[in-house]
Amino acid sequence: MIRTVVCEKEGCSGNSFYIYTEEKNLILICSECGDRYSFDVSFCDYVLLSSCCKCNNDTFKIFKDTEKESIYARCTECGNPPDKIYVDEGGTQVSYEQKKTDEIKDLIYRLNEKIEMMENKIDILGADQQVVQQSLGYVAEFVQKNPW
Ligand SMILES: [Zn+2]
Ligand SMILES: [Zn+2]
Repeated sequence: MIRTVVCEKEGCSGNSFYIYTEEKNLILICSECGDRYSFDVSFCDYVLLSSCCKCNNDTFKIFKDTEKESIYARCTECGNPPDKIYVDEGGTQVSYEQKKTDEIKDLIYRLNEKIEMMENKIDILGADQQVVQQSLGYVAEFVQKNPW
């Protein structure tokens, strides 16, 4: 279930927050009373920045998925998420594009391994070259049809 995070301070029911990330915690600060909340976000592979990725506004509505224990932030002005930066396995901060490129490289590597396995199997079966060509054609088509 998705719940809107509302300030818990008595007399305040603020539902827009300033956000920043500290260590592995997402810190929310109620924009009305200044109360501070902290959420463990160590499961995330990215760091949320303090301003909207589209309009630069810095207050957000916060949503919590109670089943998945995950948290979303949406700009109070335009509804977009805050800007984020990713952290790769070595702990280096990388852009979203870089992360995607790395993922695609990894995927292609794994596809190559699969193709080699397929080729080996086909060799064993003694099938002709045409079958191999066809299989490679399917793989290429699959890669093209999947926008990242
Ligand atoms: Zn408040
Ligand atoms: Zn915005």
